[in-house]
Amino acid sequence: MDTMSGGTWRPAERVRGMGTSIFTEMTELARETGAVNLGQGVPELASPPQLLRDVADAVLGGHNQYPPAIGLPALREAVAAHQLRRYGLGLDPACEVLVTTGATEALAACVLALCDPGDEIIAFDPCYDAYAADARLAGARLVGVPLAADGDGFALDAGALRAAVTPRTRVLILNTPHNPTGKVFTPAELEAVAAVCREHDLTAVTDEVYEHLVYGDVPHRPIAALPGMRERTLSVSSAGKTFNTTGWKVGWVTGPAPLVAAVNAAKQFLTYASGTPYQGALARALDSVEEWAAGLRSQLRGHRDLLTTGLEAAGLRPFRSDAGYFVQADVRPAGYEDGVAFCRDLPGRVGVVAIPTSAFQVAEGPRWLVRFSFCKREATLDEAVTRLKRLAA
Ligand SMILES: *Cc1c(COP(=O)(O)O)cnc(C)c1O
Repeated sequence: MDTMSGGTWRPAERVRGMGTSIFTEMTELARETGAVNLGQGVPELASPPQLLRDVADAVLGGHNQYPPAIGLPALREAVAAHQLRRYGLGLDPACEVLVTTGATEALAACVLALCDPGDEIIAFDPCYDAYAADARLAGARLVGVPLAADGDGFALDAGALRAAVTPRTRVLILNTPHNPTGKVFTPAELEAVAAVCREHDLTAVTDEVYEHLVYGDVPHRPIAALPGMRERTLSVSSAGKTFNTTGWKVGWVTGPAPLVAAVNAAKQFLTYASGTPYQGALARALDSVEEWAAGLRSQLRGHRDLLTTGLEAAGLRPFRSDAGYFVQADVRPAGYEDGVAFCRDLPGRVGVVAIPTSAFQVAEGPRWLVRFSFCKREATLDEAVTRLKRLAA
């Protein structure tokens, strides 16, 4: 019961305990201490100038009312063309592409559309924090299958995946390129995941928001492109990470028409639709995304190297990050067994904020991993690296 409100109410079971997170605590710590915030993955990087002008023109030109619930035709066509061009996936923009309010809404709508209370969803642990929340909103349970530290990276444990499947498992969420580890699933790993989905008749829901931000040798490949997977996969992506426009919240789901229709049934009563001026502008930007993304990748690759080298110089043990915005580091060499304790001390000791990876763990996992973000300006990273070196002093 909340006595502060004066009434006799209590939060519903589905949101109980969701309010306070380590993210809030660390953001607050960064503010109080003036620390360099490498906690949240909020990019400090530029967006394509033409894209910004196109949005401004759309707003001033009066494109400010509801778009169709499934999204502006131009953006649905651009998404379909993107999937065909990059991955050889043919889609009908009329019924196999759904525009959403970011990948966040897309994922929530997919889970709400596919899971009944008591159903189970598998995800690879650690994982993006929205998955557990989405499962809970649907009355389902998220089951974490650990990605085990393997040399300087993280690897799928196919045996653990098989062991996690039960008769109640309905959905497998596959996030590749992966947040928080920066892992890109290899072709062999993708095939192992696909085999489990086919054998147990699971629906794959993907999270591919970092599809354009791959720095290593293994290219991103959507699991929908594997044999027998297109008909059982809902693929989710977003413009936020690709164009450094995380505040716009434009994402999309693609897949077979009946699955997309079920997702839209949930989605239309979450937001109905949003972002008309952004959608039109993004349609044009997506048509020429390859050139833009190549430049952004080379910038982010440099930032990853800067941060990784800095973490080594600070006496931590960074893992290899092949994609996305983050590097994980083992903080045991700095004398900490627990990443939460490390992150609580770090702002006071050297003036940097990071997030303990345990915040992304569904099941028990290593406590000694900490996530640092490199989607920041070079000056921000230089300052963070200089400060982190004091850890080794
Ligand atoms: C940022 C992020 C999202 C959220 O995407 P939006 O389009 O901003 O809603 C989803 N999944 C992962 C893994 C992310 O890192």
